[in-house]
This record gives sequence, C-alpha cells and structure tokens, in this order.
Amino acid sequence: MHVLVTADRAITDDGSRGPTSVLSVGGEIVAVGDPATVAADPRAAGAQRIDWSRRAMVPGTVNTHNHSFQSLLRGIGDDLPFLEWRDKALYKYSPRLRAEDMATAALFAFGEMLLHGVTTVCDFYYLNAQGNENASATIDAARRLGMRIVLARCFYDWEGAPAAYRETIPQAVAHFEELHAKYKDPARFLTTVQPAPHSQHGATPAMIEAGAGCAADAGVPWHIHLAEETYQVEQSLERFGKRPLVAVSQLQVDMSAMIAVHGCWFDDGERALLAERGGSLAYCPGSNMFLGDGVTDLVDLVARGVRVGLGTDGGCSNNRVSVFDEMRAAALLQKVHRCDGQAIDAETCFALGTRTAGDVLRLPVGRIAPGYRCDLVALDLDDPSLWPVQALEKNVVYALSSRAITDVVVDGEEVVSARRLKHVSLDEIQARVSELTRDWRR
Ligand SMILES: [Zn+2]
Repeated sequence: MHVLVTADRAITDDGSRGPTSVLSVGGEIVAVGDPATVAADPRAAGAQRIDWSRRAMVPGTVNTHNHSFQSLLRGIGDDLPFLEWRDKALYKYSPRLRAEDMATAALFAFGEMLLHGVTTVCDFYYLNAQGNENASATIDAARRLGMRIVLARCFYDWEGAPAAYRETIPQAVAHFEELHAKYKDPARFLTTVQPAPHSQHGATPAMIEAGAGCAADAGVPWHIHLAEETYQVEQSLERFGKRPLVAVSQLQVDMSAMIAVHGCWFDDGERALLAERGGSLAYCPGSNMFLGDGVTDLVDLVARGVRVGLGTDGGCSNNRVSVFDEMRAAALLQKVHRCDGQAIDAETCFALGTRTAGDVLRLPVGRIAPGYRCDLVALDLDDPSLWPVQALEKNVVYALSSRAITDVVVDGEEVVSARRLKHVSLDEIQARVSELTRDWRR
C-alpha cells in the first residue's frame, strides 16, 4: 500500500523542521521532503493521503525495555522494599497468569504505549511456563493493535523463582528456536524474537552462554539485566570474584551483540569495556528512580560512543509507559546527578528514544528517512505544551504533554487516530483488566 503523510512541521533525520511529506510503500519510507516535491513523485499517485495539518510529525518512539505483564501490577506493590514487592506482588500474582491473561496484559501495556507514541516495544519476557503459548499470546496482542514488537524471550534457570519462570538449558534453546522460526519477518520487522538470559542472578553462566549462542545463530542481539542494584555487584564479586560486566565478558559470548539493561553500577572499567567491545545499553531512568536503584553514568557512556536506547521497564516500576517521559527523565536525572545543567541536551535524549534505540534493537526504525520503516507520531501544534514552536525538539523532550499526541502510524498504517486506538477498543481492554485483577490486593 502507498501512503502519503503530510504535516506542518517535522523532526526528520536530515534536519529539516518545516512542512514535510513522507511517502511510504509497503510500510517502508521511500521519500521524505517538501510536500510539493514528494507529491510529484510518481509513486505518490493514488496513495492514501493522511493529512496532519496543525501537527508536527516525529519518528515513532522505541521502547527498548519493558515487561508487559507488569502493567497489571501497577500500584499493587509500590513503595515497598524490593524483596517484599517481589514476594507480595510479583511472585504472588504473576505465576497465576495464563495465555489469555498475557494477552490482556499486553493489550493493556501496548495499547497505553501506542497512545503515548511508542511504535516499537521490546518485551523482555520471562513468564514462559516451559513453552511458547504465553509469548505467542503477547506477540498476537501486539499484532492486533498494529504495534511493532521485539519479544526478548527469557533464558531463566534460578531455582528460587516460581516454576513458571524456569527452564532447563535444552528447553530454553528449543523454545527460543521454535518461536524465532515461527515469527521470522525479515521484510517488515513487525515481529522479531531475540534471546534474553535474564541476569547473573536469574541465569547460570551456562544459561547465559546458551542465550548468547542462540543470538549468534539467529543473527540478532541478546539482552541481559546487569548491575541494576548494588547487591547485584556484591553477588557477582562473591560468586565470580569479578564485577558484573567483567564476569559476563569472560564467558563465551559476543559482547558486540549484547544489550545490557540498566548498568546503574557499572564502574569506570566496565563502561570502558562496554565501549571497547561494542555492547549496547537499554537505559531506564524512570524505573531506576522509582526503585531507588542508582544512576547510570549515561553521559560518560554516550561520550564513549556506546549505543544507548531508552526503556520504560515494567508498568509497576515506573509507573509510566512513555518513552517521551523517559527522554525528559534521562535529561533531568543526569543534570541533577552531575549538578550540571549542560550535562546532556534534549537532542541527544530525543535520539536515545528514537534512532539510537532502533540501532540498539538492530531494526530499521526510529528515523524519518528513506529505507526506514514508516513509524510516525503526530503532535498537536495547538497544544500549549509545544508553544512557542521555534524549538520543537527541546519542547518535545522537556515540555510535551501526552495530551498533544494525536495520531500514530506503524509500518505505514494508522493505528491511533484522533487519540483513539483504531483496532482494539479501550473499553474491551478496560473490561478485561478489571475482570482479571478484581481480587488482587495491595
Ligand atoms: Zn527488566
């Protein structure tokens, strides 16, 4: 399908900020530029026209780290110590969830994200119950909404966790390979499956190596939580005699394909190692603040050339699901941590939530540029949070209200129109969530 989207302003990859049209063919951007020029492109003849006048067009945002089922736990374990939250909320309710409940959670989490302008989500998924039924239900929910998803399928073998999280190494490998083959989509990248050995505490060294090995075989990156809280550094020193990133780097793994999640307590040597080996980081400032984890030295990592993408983390550790919010949180947290208002700027934080996040996930998304998938968000220029309009990127990062997000396109198709989900009604999602969580208590 040919689609022509035109807006009054834009944040495009080539730096233009004025009236812009984007032409998409089969979900791929084939032309970007001045509306008259793009309209004259022969491929624009007969295209579906989407008119975003009085709106600004920005790239769809990319959420590099989330756990969709955790949206159901929002508010249930807030403000508790970590172990109490884990036992009273996470371990109590999550093992009860069946595939249909996973679909409810995913419709809820992803539907809310779409309304906040997230067009790609990476769901780090560990409620696999020794199979792929739950993960498939989650992917299918994203498909129903029209959202782009990376299912980071967990590799988990820590015996202290509920049985629903755990697998043997052969089970995890076989299930990953099955899911990866089932959803292979090399043309449109609407669904991608990547391996995710949970963490040093959730996966044995052999399990981490198995996950990284599957990533190498499939030609995709792999994800792992590292150094989120100080106790994880202490445990790594105790068990392996080395700090987290150093211990992982000495396994049989390709660090250049690694996406470390959090890294709040990476020291100078670990940050240098991450840069040297070409690893990436999924950075979740809202969650790190919510849980009191610590402050990742983002400024240093960016200066060293590490690819960083923003993530919201789960809906019960933030508790928002907006990457635009993470852009603001990243900027403010780094500025106050360094007592330096110039520690990082809006343009850098905008990139972390769009183009470099796409690079982290190795997907052609996050830029309004030819060759990239046509994932776009419209922002209402009549909303006071974007006034005055002279400094669009600054205002999007520091001042934007979610009220201003009006329309969303994923892969050349409208999925949010006039602030409403197009394919699934919010009423259905609300009814499913309230029914499922009726007996849940704080
Ligand atoms: Zn996580």
